[in-house]
Amino acid sequence: MSDARTVFLPASKLLDLISFELTKRHHPIRENLRAATAPCAVCGKQSGRVHSRYTRTLADLPWQGVAVTVRVRVRRFFCDQRACDRAIFAEPLFDIATRYACRT
Ligand SMILES: [Zn+2]
Repeated sequence: MSDARTVFLPASKLLDLISFELTKRHHPIRENLRAATAPCAVCGKQSGRVHSRYTRTLADLPWQGVAVTVRVRVRRFFCDQRACDRAIFAEPLFDIATRYACRT
């Protein structure tokens, strides 16, 4: 499976693999972001207090005639800075989405 990760997951240093299924027609891959904290999109302060999570599909890639879907669970964090206008923010995907976008 490590070979498959290299092929499918260009940002594998930033992501933790949750599941990888092999079926005849579809290979869904699920991952979490590795960082324990994320910077607020407005003030830039790090937060580790998770509000909620959602799944984002980053790529649908063809691999040897089989569809491969890469899904990442993205967390929403509270921003605890009183001076900040943003109460809740989604963790940034930095260049992860860009790397996947290059492969779609
Ligand atoms: Zn903030």
